[in-house]
Amino acid sequence: MKKIAVLTSGGDSPGMNAAVRAVVRKALFHDVEVYGVYQGYLGLLNNNIKPMERGSVGDKIQRGGTFLQSARCPEFKDREVRQRGIDNLNALGIEGLVVVGGDGSYRGAQRLSEEGIKTIGIPGTIDNDINGTDFTIGFDTALNTIIDAIDKIRDTASSHERTFIVEVMGRDAGDLALWSALAGGAETVLVPEHKKDIKEVADKIQQGIERGKKHSIIIVAEGVMTGEECADQLKKYINVDTRVSVLGHMQRGGSPSGVDRVLASRLGAYAVELLMAGESGLAVGIQNNKLTKTKFEDIFSTQHVLDERMYRLTNELSI
Ligand code: ATP
Repeated sequence: MKKIAVLTSGGDSPGMNAAVRAVVRKALFHDVEVYGVYQGYLGLLNNNIKPMERGSVGDKIQRGGTFLQSARCPEFKDREVRQRGIDNLNALGIEGLVVVGGDGSYRGAQRLSEEGIKTIGIPGTIDNDINGTDFTIGFDTALNTIIDAIDKIRDTASSHERTFIVEVMGRDAGDLALWSALAGGAETVLVPEHKKDIKEVADKIQQGIERGKKHSIIIVAEGVMTGEECADQLKKYINVDTRVSVLGHMQRGGSPSGVDRVLASRLGAYAVELLMAGESGLAVGIQNNKLTKTKFEDIFSTQHVLDERMYRLTNELSI
């Protein structure tokens, strides 16, 4: 393979730049020409495709977001629309494409693979909700952002003897909520994978107050309900001074952590190796610290699961 391209798609995540850098540098190292597609699949349709050199990815590894930019492009689901993108790649002689993104981006990549462009997916999302990998690029950075916020909230919660509800991202997955609850020492975590009775949560907070606890922190995943809804439901059972903190998009930003930079670099380089070996229709990942590849169809056919032992541990340690 002599020419490849790389794009970032879907929601951005810290470490996407490090992944793009790895793809570009690894390709150039092996004398493979490499192009950057700006604005994801939208840029593919609009021929927003530019050659990348060593310097194009200089001073990017430490930056959050994605310098290639991302965009939602619902029309890419349409076969005829996609053909425009394929024609643009063919016109430049590009045979392989690396797609950094989430589940939806993988579906686009799978279609392209079936339609003649060799594609490899790299998991880039803070949600950690993609099968075939233990961790997605951006999860560790977002986790640390949330922990930092919880630590600060804890200071003020304890000064005022308040119950804080912290709403975190994660879409339909509870990973961000669970990991941040365990690492932040929260009293309770609400995740989409487990139904928890709000009365039970209220009882636990009440018992804590009776034992002389100064504050309580509840982490609620956005996939369960909003922080405000959680506060309203709690009020039905207990009369405590409650504040809601919605961390929002700050969780998606910031300089990537060391763990995310290393993960992105390893996965980016591996994606290029697979394309050079003529492989396609696969996503790369990391499992037990080993680089792995999984067919897109296998990724879509299984449900993301929460680490049950960690869920139990979080509950056990927050008694
Ligand atoms: P995140 O979960 O972080 O938001 P994502 O990759 O799942 O990332 P989506 O918005 O679902 O984000 O998908 C990104 C893009 O992938 C879409 O805008 C669309 O262009 C393309 N895409 C999604 N689903 C399909 C599909 N079924 N067929 C072709 N292309 C698709």
